[in-house]
Amino acid sequence: MSILLDNKTKNNEKTCTFSKFILNFISLKNYRRRKLRISEILKHKNRTLSFEFFPPKKIENEKTLFDTIEILKQYNPDFVSITYGAGGSTKEKTIDWTLKIKKDYNLNVMMHLTCISSTKESIDNIIETLNKNNIDNILALRGDLPNDNNINSMEFKYAYELVEYLKGKGDFSIGVAGYPEGHPESPSLEKDIEYLKMKIDAGGEFIITQLFFDNRYFFDFVERVEKSGIKAPIVAGIMPILNLSQIERFVDMCGSTIPESLTKKLENKSKEDMYKIGIEYATKQCIELIENNVKGLHFYTLNKHNATHDILKNLP
Ligand code: FAD
Repeated sequence: MSILLDNKTKNNEKTCTFSKFILNFISLKNYRRRKLRISEILKHKNRTLSFEFFPPKKIENEKTLFDTIEILKQYNPDFVSITYGAGGSTKEKTIDWTLKIKKDYNLNVMMHLTCISSTKESIDNIIETLNKNNIDNILALRGDLPNDNNINSMEFKYAYELVEYLKGKGDFSIGVAGYPEGHPESPSLEKDIEYLKMKIDAGGEFIITQLFFDNRYFFDFVERVEKSGIKAPIVAGIMPILNLSQIERFVDMCGSTIPESLTKKLENKSKEDMYKIGIEYATKQCIELIENNVKGLHFYTLNKHNATHDILKNLP
């Protein structure tokens, strides 16, 4: 009888130790996952640093991205993000690069995901892959409307619907896009903030802004966002101007403006001088943002390291 009792006690103890081990393992895993959630990082850090990459179209450009990641990694970014081609055109590559960067470089990754023209079924497939691979961070976007307005599916019309959908499908940390100068299709700055609030109310936890070259737009945006009752942290999107004609085409599409004084400084300059002016300008821009307690700096690297590296080495 006593032997029987002893065995029972031992078995109970074993079960207890095993349960404790499982519980510890689960909580450690959850802790690790929580640590990687951008919303949590933003809560606990004064200022975050992040880099944006796009999946290279050609194999010969992959080496440039590998080299860029290798060099920028030394700055210990809080996360890096991988863009998603318009209408899902880079879907497979975006997922592949998201997983590759997480695995090969051990970096915290956020995948961009656009919803215009997507079906719920196609989004479900992506969510399944992200869940399976412990990718917790998603930047939920509508995506630009196709030039021919040829939209394959109307299951999602706006980003807030994607945020809502993602929230119902997993424990993701979701970011959304913000526009210091207003989104180009928006009827007014007030409406823009109203729609931004819908994305946050639907479950968006942080905001990453469109690029801007005049900090006054950013400061004004932060003020309008706060006034609307939005509490989510705002990360500033930074892109140095390295080539005037190239950037002019780019800002035309995204609705940002280049200050006239900066355009004048850059006009008729050699490539080298333009680079110097662009870096100097963006560095000053970042320093002013830091002095005003910006929550994060997100660099649009265009897969190159030089410019971001040259700015970062001069920041406090
Ligand atoms: P939404 O928030 O849905 O807004 C789109 C437009 O609809 C706006 O004019 C808004 O004011 C209006 N709107 C919103 N809600 C409503 C409503 N309920 N009723 C009426 N109007 C409404 N694009 C890509 O293709 N791939 C990327 O990887 C990518 N990454 C980006 C990263 C950042 C940080 C930013 C700022 C933009 C990025 N974009 C990307 C561009 C983005 O997809 C475009 O700017 C797109 O046109 C809008 O996306 P959104 O998520 O802001 O859309």
